[in-house]
Amino acid sequence: MPTKYIFFTGGVVSSVGKGVTAAAVGRLLKQRGFTVAVQKLDPYINVDPGTMSPYQHGEVFVLDDGAETDLDLGHYERLIDVRLNKTCNITSGQVYADVIAKERRGDYLGGTIQVIPHITNEIKRRIGLVSKMTGAEIVLVEVGGTVGDIESLPFLEALRQLRTDMGRENTLYIHVTWLPYIGATEELKTKPTQHSVRELRSIGITPDMIVARSDTPIEDVLCEKIAQFCDVEKRAVVPMVTAPILYEIPLLLEQAHVGDIILERLNLTSQKTPNWNAWQRLVVETKREKPSISIGLVGKYVELHDAYISVRESLKHAALALGVELDLKWIHSVEVEKGTNADKFEDVFGIVVPGGFGSRGIEGKIMAARYARLNKVPYLGLCLGMQLMVVDFARDVLGTDKVNSSEFDRTTQHPVIDLMLEQQDVTDMGGTMRLGLYPCTLQPGTIARKAYGVEKVDERHRHRFEFNNTYREQFAKNGMKFSGLSPNGNLVEIAELENHPFMVGTQFHPEFLSRPTRPHPLFVEFVRAACLKAGIPTEEPPLSFDE
Ligand code: GLN
Repeated sequence: MPTKYIFFTGGVVSSVGKGVTAAAVGRLLKQRGFTVAVQKLDPYINVDPGTMSPYQHGEVFVLDDGAETDLDLGHYERLIDVRLNKTCNITSGQVYADVIAKERRGDYLGGTIQVIPHITNEIKRRIGLVSKMTGAEIVLVEVGGTVGDIESLPFLEALRQLRTDMGRENTLYIHVTWLPYIGATEELKTKPTQHSVRELRSIGITPDMIVARSDTPIEDVLCEKIAQFCDVEKRAVVPMVTAPILYEIPLLLEQAHVGDIILERLNLTSQKTPNWNAWQRLVVETKREKPSISIGLVGKYVELHDAYISVRESLKHAALALGVELDLKWIHSVEVEKGTNADKFEDVFGIVVPGGFGSRGIEGKIMAARYARLNKVPYLGLCLGMQLMVVDFARDVLGTDKVNSSEFDRTTQHPVIDLMLEQQDVTDMGGTMRLGLYPCTLQPGTIARKAYGVEKVDERHRHRFEFNNTYREQFAKNGMKFSGLSPNGNLVEIAELENHPFMVGTQFHPEFLSRPTRPHPLFVEFVRAACLKAGIPTEEPPLSFDE
């Protein structure tokens, strides 16, 4: 069967949930027995989001092969339960860098290099790579931004050409738009949708389906109007009212027959009857009234929750499996450092210190680790959070404050966290960290080993610094266990403290592999420990929503 392509564009405004819609459509197809992959096309000129500020871009999502990608890839992986690779996120920067490198090599034999065909051909080549590299039968492609943006034009032109190249039965265009609500007249408006479809059609793309998003219920007559004005079949205008629960979206799309319409248009027959039993249980359990457990997340980007989206989702997955409700408290590390909200720790039964870079708010995070250690509050340190847990412990054991990670104090007397050997000569900041999947062996008799229940795991990394082995013996004598090591024993991948209910730090990022249907074991055991501290009973064994 030829690879089938579904293209997602956005209209009217950004942030209407195009990524989540694409992911949910992917799930519909997976439930019908197809293998799917999703690709995000980002129109910005950065080569990848790895060097961008989380304030600009939110979290950087890391894949198995070490690609640093847009946070939408996290939605795709979680909702569809797939593992994607570096072909699944391309930026204008990557495309131009490639074309310019070829031009410099003389590959174009003196030709004039233009957006059409050179840039568009490179985009098409990269779209084609996804099915080759993932083996997906259906590739979903989401274009970032909104139709009408100057910078996304080459991507849209490439998508237009792909229908001509591959035929109508192998390509489908889905346009996701927003219906604004006018309070004075109490009505939803379709005009911006009509305009954005007109804009899309002027580029040569007529959508086959329109997903109309809104915060308030959408009457049938509005869908009829959109169908009529935008030349889309009535049944292919899908009203999508903002769902309070993310996991409900695939079910809502299923009810609207989106999966069946797509299969019909792409001339496909379902490989199996979609079974939503487990997924429905997951939604019912999410909605059920449950005891809530408050967990504090200490970070310096807490104003922007998207900066920690995978951590938040992983905590939710774990809470759901344990039959409790997550009450996440965002604690600003800079304010902790200033001493203005240190009392916030008193309201929480578990503390997470997630990944991060740069010195702002570092002492506040170390204070969080100290509070957790001294008060026996469950603590989960993720990458930087593990490193700072080590710094706090070391200041105690070595009896001096002259202890730090050399990331924050190059000349510190005790660099207990230090630059990795292979990082010493790195000057380029983009894509040069220790990135992607690495194996980790779990040491017997540790919390980590017990949580995972296996001896060897593979986890995703993104860091330049590591535990300094000079201190290993001394710290081990004083109650730090090195519960996860690289197979040759050289790198500390997990550290934990003895005589503490749960103080565990991972050099990797477990949050990238947690799924709603398969919560990550370290998050499950962390939330369980927090519940124990709070006196809240939890499900044992955890509830399972796997099919
Ligand atoms: N800044 C730290 C390092 O580079 C931690 C990175 C992270 O938390 N992802 O090692």
